[in-house]
Amino acid sequence: MTKELYYESAYISEFFAEVIKCERSENKAYKGRYEVVLDRTAFFPEQGGQGSDIGVLEFDDGKSVAGIEHVSIGSEIRHIADKEIPVGTRVRGVIDFARRFSNMQQHTGEHIFSGLVNSEYGYNNVGFHLSDSEVTMDYDGVLTAENIRKLEIKANEAIWANLDVICEFPEADKLSEIPYRSKKELSGDVRIVTIPGIDICACCAPHVNRTGEIGMLKVVGLQNYKGGVRVNILCGRRALLYLQGEHDIVGELTALLTTSADKVVTSVKRAFDDNSNMKSELSQARETLIGYEISEIVQVTSSDISGGIFVNAAEDDIYVVKDNAYDSNMLRKLVNSLSEHKKGYCGAFAGSQESGYRFIIASGASGKDCKALCDKLRTEFGAKGGGSNAMVQGSLNVADLRSVLDSLT
Ligand SMILES: [Zn+2]
Repeated sequence: MTKELYYESAYISEFFAEVIKCERSENKAYKGRYEVVLDRTAFFPEQGGQGSDIGVLEFDDGKSVAGIEHVSIGSEIRHIADKEIPVGTRVRGVIDFARRFSNMQQHTGEHIFSGLVNSEYGYNNVGFHLSDSEVTMDYDGVLTAENIRKLEIKANEAIWANLDVICEFPEADKLSEIPYRSKKELSGDVRIVTIPGIDICACCAPHVNRTGEIGMLKVVGLQNYKGGVRVNILCGRRALLYLQGEHDIVGELTALLTTSADKVVTSVKRAFDDNSNMKSELSQARETLIGYEISEIVQVTSSDISGGIFVNAAEDDIYVVKDNAYDSNMLRKLVNSLSEHKKGYCGAFAGSQESGYRFIIASGASGKDCKALCDKLRTEFGAKGGGSNAMVQGSLNVADLRSVLDSLT
């Protein structure tokens, strides 16, 4: 059995130990690495929703260093090492304590928050996940944004109160009298973590000694999850970095909008409104423009290729070519206006040789069959599209639209 130094103190970041087993890993995820068992360790293994510590094992008087990327616990605690270390070797373990301390801050913060959720609303923490990138808790009841705001303030008040965090293994008879959370699936010695007046919970993980070390707790996510909610929190440095990032974003926005932080939302809403008004004004202006264009286009009696107009005078067909700025709405308006003036096919194409062309074709007063024309474009020129006898639309990728339109007129 490996002596678990993290239960003596969560602040042991360096320790000496002896290798009592070293085997090549059979786990595919750790191909080429070794699983090292020590007589004692301060590396906290992955368990209870929390990732393991990482760090190094130094040996040969510090001349050799094995990286430890993961520590697992099953029947024994196994350190995944990138070097073989012979059994009997004395090693110096050094854990990445900045990372460990952050985990301690997050985890004790989680206890405070879950203890408050339990005492204020009666909900249980039914899921916990702590990794380098996120801390999530799942509760079996619904919390509103307003509830979260109040809980966040109470949690930070518990941090400012700098309360003791007491970790202990009580005797069985004393344990039965302690009203702690997370009673399920526990066997053997039960470790109880108490934050006086806030929370009592069974937990195996390293915690800070006093709540003040958490620094601050910020809720950064709330979503409905399996009939309850999933809450994301950040504590300590992680919370500060997050708030710095948000502050920078607000700073950029206030500079862009030349306003103050408290007016950013109003300014953005106004910009959205302005944009929407301009879009509708632009659309009206384009419609007016189409009206002027139509009166000129319908006067054209033979193809004006440089003007993008192709005419079959005998059939009273007309096709107009526009650039990519012409959206589908404008194409439809153009075609509708043309079909009021012409008897034959009225088509409009918009696009370029590079991007391909979108098209809409309608039949004028004589009611020609647009589907037949669309079939021709499909079979002869590889167009895509379809529609009714009265109107078809689609797309066409051709290097030379002019020859296509020549063949139609
Ligand atoms: Zn815990």
